Amino acid sequence: MRIDLHAHTTMSDGTDSPRQLVHAAKAANLDVVAIVDHDSTRGWDEAADAALETGVSLVRGTEVSAKYQGISVHLLSYLHDPLAPVLVQQNGRVRDARVNRARTIVSLIEQDYPITWDDVLAQTEEGTTIGRPHIADALVAAGSIGTRSQAFAEILFPGSPYYVPHYAPDAIDAIAAIREAGGVAVFAHPGANARGRVVPDHVIGEMVEAGLQGLEVFHRDNPLEQRERLLTLANSHDLLITGSSDYHGDGKPNRLGENTTDPAVFAAIEELGVTSVVRS
Ligand code: AMP
Ligand code: ZN
Ligand code: FE
Ligand code: FE
Repeated sequence: MRIDLHAHTTMSDGTDSPRQLVHAAKAANLDVVAIVDHDSTRGWDEAADAALETGVSLVRGTEVSAKYQGISVHLLSYLHDPLAPVLVQQNGRVRDARVNRARTIVSLIEQDYPITWDDVLAQTEEGTTIGRPHIADALVAAGSIGTRSQAFAEILFPGSPYYVPHYAPDAIDAIAAIREAGGVAVFAHPGANARGRVVPDHVIGEMVEAGLQGLEVFHRDNPLEQRERLLTLANSHDLLITGSSDYHGDGKPNRLGENTTDPAVFAAIEELGVTSVVRS
């Protein structure tokens, strides 16, 4: 079984629609794929239809934006109740904050580059969780820069004069919300130190006390020495260990199935979540 538990669609900053994602998973010889758009469950229904069409099994989830003392923390919530008020409200608040923050970033960028807010909206669909990737895409469309990755490297990186953060809940509260909604809480790319600071070991201990159940160890943004550290932490706290691609379609080089998750871990996640895996 080939299992990839981290992929994005046009409901956030991926470039495949939810249906296209599941078909791409089929083409990549995956047996299981997870849709985890940022702060949203809006792609779930379309992806579920495509899972039944293709025979690919679908794990429905969300990548929840959070923070620990200013350090960005992404939490994968798998198989939660999509109607649980605690997460619906939290995701809504983050999505609203993301819109205001993106508008502020654009108001800074438009002083130096020929893009407008409408150009950014043109890169999104109804219901998309907006993010810097859409601003990057508008810059590419305007011919100001070559690729999304270049836009991040030159204009949108944290610390850039155009960078503005957005509200995100505290990681401890976000884990509690995920668990209250019946989700399985896995810390996404916890050792991604090229993106910024990562949380230290004792914080992972606090997160486990709050209900964290797994670490996404096998992810291209976790360098080798981080993976070793994370494996040790996972073993000492008895956590699930996952591996995933963080596929964003054409928006990133990450390919479906480039990292995968052990079938026994997938079975444990299925057992723990309150929403069923979609399979034909
Ligand atoms: P935001 O959610 O607005 O903070 O933007 C972060 C998102 O941008 C993440 O989900 C990443 O997938 C994506 N991202 C971060 N760095 C890059 C990069 N260098 N190239 C393309 N996408 C990136
Ligand atoms: Zn993303
Ligand atoms: Fe992430
Ligand atoms: Fe992601």
